[in-house]
Amino acid sequence: MTDTKPKDNFIRDIINKDLQAGKNQGRVQTRFPPEPNGYLHIGHAKSICLNFGLAADYKGKCNLRFDDTNPETEEPDYVRSIKEDVRWLGFDWEDREFYASDYFERLYGFALDLVKKGAAYVCDLTAEQVSEYRGTLTKPGKDSPWRGRSVEENLDLFARMRAGEFPDGSKSLRAKIDMADPNPLLRDPVLYRVRRAHHYRTGDAWCIYPTYDWAHGQSDSIEGITHSICTLEFEVHRPLYDWCLVQLGVHRPQQIEFARLSLSHTVLSKRKLLTLVKEKYVDGWDDPRMPTISAYRRRGYTPASLRRFCDEIGVAKANSIVDAAVLEHSLREELNRTAPRAMAVLRPLKVVLTNYPEGRTEELDCVNNPEDPSQGTRKVPFANVLYIERDDFLENPPKKFFRLSPGREVRLRYAYFITCTGVVKDPATGEIVEVRCTYDPATRGGDAPDHRSPKATLHWVSAAHAVPGEVRLYDTLFTKRDPNELEEGFDWTSNLNPKSLETIPEARFEPALAGAAPGSRWQFERLGYFCVDIRDSRPGRPVFNRTVTLRDTWARIQKSGKENE
Ligand code: ATP
Ligand code: MG
Repeated sequence: MTDTKPKDNFIRDIINKDLQAGKNQGRVQTRFPPEPNGYLHIGHAKSICLNFGLAADYKGKCNLRFDDTNPETEEPDYVRSIKEDVRWLGFDWEDREFYASDYFERLYGFALDLVKKGAAYVCDLTAEQVSEYRGTLTKPGKDSPWRGRSVEENLDLFARMRAGEFPDGSKSLRAKIDMADPNPLLRDPVLYRVRRAHHYRTGDAWCIYPTYDWAHGQSDSIEGITHSICTLEFEVHRPLYDWCLVQLGVHRPQQIEFARLSLSHTVLSKRKLLTLVKEKYVDGWDDPRMPTISAYRRRGYTPASLRRFCDEIGVAKANSIVDAAVLEHSLREELNRTAPRAMAVLRPLKVVLTNYPEGRTEELDCVNNPEDPSQGTRKVPFANVLYIERDDFLENPPKKFFRLSPGREVRLRYAYFITCTGVVKDPATGEIVEVRCTYDPATRGGDAPDHRSPKATLHWVSAAHAVPGEVRLYDTLFTKRDPNELEEGFDWTSNLNPKSLETIPEARFEPALAGAAPGSRWQFERLGYFCVDIRDSRPGRPVFNRTVTLRDTWARIQKSGKENE
């Protein structure tokens, strides 16, 4: 699914050239290869949009492949969530749902081919010894004492590794390349380790597991992938990727690297996200403060806004941090057009209209979306006791405060003009518990016949008709733009924002919101965009997540050209 004409980028240039040269019989086949060891995040969304987007543009295909070669960390629930998220983003892998673990037998066969060619050997060094022997970037490595084993001996030992004759970590299969290669990844990399671990799909069938470098390229080749797109840190792996395929003489996909997405004020490493979940810094993978796709969904982001964001940031060769305001901007533009308006009061202050007949109720017409007249109007009940926001009233206002205060007239949105005549205070605490006002019956609908116009328009709900419920306000998960930037002696969790969640348990909503569908998105007049929580909301007691505020800092930044406004 693509929303706009694709932008040119260096990956498209490569594909265009390949097509012109008649490579791969004109086929374009990509894949999205998540490891099912966590939920997908916004960085994965970028990779999904890129891989599925390219396939769509070039009338090719994109596979969903679970890169499940690390038994200890992988789980079926991660597979389920990954599929749900890719689908929700709007992409379809049709019948091409693949698992690297389905290739274990073939990968083993490929490894036998290498052994038979004398291009791989069984090594008895421990993991620590292997890394000792590897050398450094400036110092060449040393040959393993087991490097010279005969093909027969290697075939025998490798078969016995698979049969479970050797303890974990005691032997490995290594490619025989060059211990002096300037690229340490080519210094006889490990292809298989002995590892007794239960795999969520293959159970206990295997006690040797392939490394990423061995599994990935060969899986790409098996699937006939033409362009294997991955993130920049795999650039140094490319010579190894190519070496394996050349040795085997099989179909050779081309690996292309692009810069991974980093987003400000959050982390996108699965290990760190898992820590946040496990250590309960957040309430699960879909906690609306998380940068996961499921969290964005729960918070009220739309698939189109995530796709548009991925499209807008483009594909680059250099890593950088994208400001979270860019993502919010993409969402706001859409919600402004689509989200119906409603009135909600987060911190209610009681207003009594002393000249409005007690017991009378009027149904006032309110516009559902001024940006889209086709959304029509709705009736909202009005009566003599109302709630307004507590901070829309000040008894002793400073100069620039134009909202309600004693003697001041304001407009109630779609209702009447009201003028404050006094306050009632709690005698014990001095706290204002009620504001007394009169209304002007001639201003019904929010317009005065004499065209006078109060400086402030407030939102409100009728106390007798309003529905109580909860609102959750979110701030950034981390206080620092780059949470990985550390003060000495602190770890990254010290950059968590202690105020990332504010729960408001007793908000009041206009009555129509009592039955708002879970997942539905609204603009609360003057407050922002909100989404009914899909987990905790109940009919008659809704729970709303603030999706995003109304203020668009990114639009301002673009206009002024300055980031530090
Ligand atoms: P981690 O390294 O944090 O464990 P990963 O990137 O290895 O995560 P995978 O499940 O292997 O996670 O990723 C699947 C695909 O998504 C890979 O092709 C990877 O390159 C891509 N991807 C992961 N993170 C990002 C990111 N931040 N930006 C763009 N693409 C990403
Ligand atoms: Mg990975």
